[in-house]
Amino acid sequence: MPGTFFKSLASGSSGNCSVITDGEFMLVIDFGISLKRFTAFLNDEGLEPDSIALMISHEHSDHAGNVKLFRKKISGEIYARRKTLEACGVSGYAMQENMAFGSFSVSSVGVSHDAVDPVGFVIERSGRKISVVTDLGTVSEGLIDAMSGSSIIGIEANHDLEMLMNGRYPEHLKRRISGPKGHLSNDQCASLVASVYSGDARVILMHLSKENNRPEIARNTVISAMVSAGISSPDVMVATQEAGSDKIFL
Ligand SMILES: [Zn+2]
Ligand SMILES: [Zn+2]
Repeated sequence: MPGTFFKSLASGSSGNCSVITDGEFMLVIDFGISLKRFTAFLNDEGLEPDSIALMISHEHSDHAGNVKLFRKKISGEIYARRKTLEACGVSGYAMQENMAFGSFSVSSVGVSHDAVDPVGFVIERSGRKISVVTDLGTVSEGLIDAMSGSSIIGIEANHDLEMLMNGRYPEHLKRRISGPKGHLSNDQCASLVASVYSGDARVILMHLSKENNRPEIARNTVISAMVSAGISSPDVMVATQEAGSDKIFL
């Protein structure tokens, strides 16, 4: 449907924000970008949604750094797990596991990350599923179940493990990033994508490390795993810090 799309506005450790809209209602996932950038996006796209809801995945500043500004300047409600709202120091609604927003229904799925109550989001509309899951160190069976069959798979491919281990980060940071409450490597991302993929899903690799990854390495790793799993002509793109992703129509 025209006007119904997903887009990442920015993805990476310097700021994250994605939107899903049906033209009337806009779901915003995370607000780690500037207010200026967000409003410029609305203006450039000519979007004037009747209502906006912000959902916060977890309290880290690259996801929640500007939620107070959102609260002040944008007329929209904020939803997050109760502990996450507290950690962000912002008022809002406690996110239930399943919630309806306009024509969308949203499940928040707990993930393993070093935050108070981090979640990924699985959004459904007219039988189509969009997963947006970043900032996790391991993949649970529950997450695979929740993401299975998504038409749009927005998933973290944070680092190439070899680049991370041979890179200049201090040891404690290497351990944190590669640990169970850190971030997904390209290989972890690839095996997750191969196991949840169905039909003609479009894959968007998100939250790539500038230091420990390269878009082509991430993309090739995921495509190889998909091809090995028997998926022909995989559709895999990379969301960047500067430009996010293309608009993907639902
Ligand atoms: Zn992050
Ligand atoms: Zn994080």
